[in-house]
Amino acid sequence: MSELTTGFKRISCPDCNGTGELRIESENINENFEVENQTVIMECQNCRGLGFMPTVSSQ
Ligand SMILES: [Zn+2]
Repeated sequence: MSELTTGFKRISCPDCNGTGELRIESENINENFEVENQTVIMECQNCRGLGFMPTVSSQ
């Protein structure tokens, strides 16, 4: 057995580091003027939530 079973190599998405989601830190100031940290999780637009890039045979 070898590593050449498939010609498909996944490249982890550099934007989300292969997680498929982006975590955006944001700060909210509440009515008591206290800063609250929020983490908003969004689907990565670069890989569309897959976590890896589609193979491009450009090389
Ligand atoms: Zn991504």
